[in-house]
Amino acid sequence: MDCSTVKKELIKAMEEFEVIDCHEHMLPEKNRLETAVDVFTFFTHYTHNDLIVSGMSESEYQSLYNHNIPLERRWEIFEPYWERIRWTSYSRAVLLAIQRFYGFEDLNRNTYEGISIAIQNNNNAGLYERVLKDACKIRIAINQCGMTDLGSPLLIPVMPLMYEMYTWEALSHPPFEPNATIQSLDDYLDAVRRYILRVKSEGVVGLKMRSNPFGHPDRAEAIRAFDSLRSGSVSTLPEFNPLRDYVVDETIKFAAKEGLVICVHTGYWGDFRKLHPLHMIPLIQRHPNAKFDIYHLGYPWVRDALMLGKGFPNVWLNLCWTHIISQKFAIDGMDEAIDLIPANKILAFGGDYRIPVEKIYGHLVMAREDMAEVLAKRIVEGRMTESQALDLAKKWFWDNAIELYGLKL
Ligand SMILES: [Zn+2]
Repeated sequence: MDCSTVKKELIKAMEEFEVIDCHEHMLPEKNRLETAVDVFTFFTHYTHNDLIVSGMSESEYQSLYNHNIPLERRWEIFEPYWERIRWTSYSRAVLLAIQRFYGFEDLNRNTYEGISIAIQNNNNAGLYERVLKDACKIRIAINQCGMTDLGSPLLIPVMPLMYEMYTWEALSHPPFEPNATIQSLDDYLDAVRRYILRVKSEGVVGLKMRSNPFGHPDRAEAIRAFDSLRSGSVSTLPEFNPLRDYVVDETIKFAAKEGLVICVHTGYWGDFRKLHPLHMIPLIQRHPNAKFDIYHLGYPWVRDALMLGKGFPNVWLNLCWTHIISQKFAIDGMDEAIDLIPANKILAFGGDYRIPVEKIYGHLVMAREDMAEVLAKRIVEGRMTESQALDLAKKWFWDNAIELYGLKL
């Protein structure tokens, strides 16, 4: 059989799988329902970047969300930029979502009004169930939006691992416990530990951080940095500083003891030089009992991120967001991951969306395509049977996340 027939068969079989969505930023459904939606709702979040990079000004972008401007006028502003970004992987998820939920094949000057009416008509109670459960067969989405009360059994929370600590104001009134009395570094660490115990009791399964450069933790240095802020001898610490190094290290130690997964954004975002996946190695080595869920394959440092999964028993690799960064890279990364990494250590999918939840479906379609592309080639070459391939896919889309996060379904 040829590759494309096998690929289609695999996709069909995978469409029957239930899925654990390993990373979202969704707000409680009521927040989405209170949002005034139209076709431009699909262009919040990542496509924002593509539009700006294509030449749209920030004020033009903001005007897309000003409902005092007629929809027709906003379309005129948008249309030339849409034609520039329509081939990016981000945009493909938009088109797939529009086709699935609103019945329009394309987004253009003939369809934008119809799509706007359709999304408005669908913006009512049960939307999350219709998208996640009915269209995607997602049983659980692991979700980080800065709160634990998510109002749906479909969403399980992850919370930030660290908060800003470069100023005395931030340190003495931490957002996770604004009324804490903080006079010493140990007071701050006690507050962090209380925060972790509280959010864990509220159902949190992981804490999320970024793969910034971290220095070796040194308590004396951290105390000096803390005291310099408290005394006012300095007003702001640099972005990366000994206080942060020490607090993050202590936080990981405590979170791991409490059984929470350490989720780590790696690679691409803003000045991504500060997000190299290899920044994590000292932390991964110092905390062998912590489980690190390394997100996004560290794009563009894909091989560096893969090597974290290759080399360390306490690392899992999470392909959330990857399929909409670039399908080509995701396919290559998955193919190489099968060669490199034990089958129980990869998580295949996380939508990584906030308001335009319909795009989770588009992203999932792309993830299944990518998985099928990689597996079909191996089947045709006689390296795997179809049932072995589907067994691997089921681990990546389902079993591994349940095991890593200890999900009770
Ligand atoms: Zn994210």
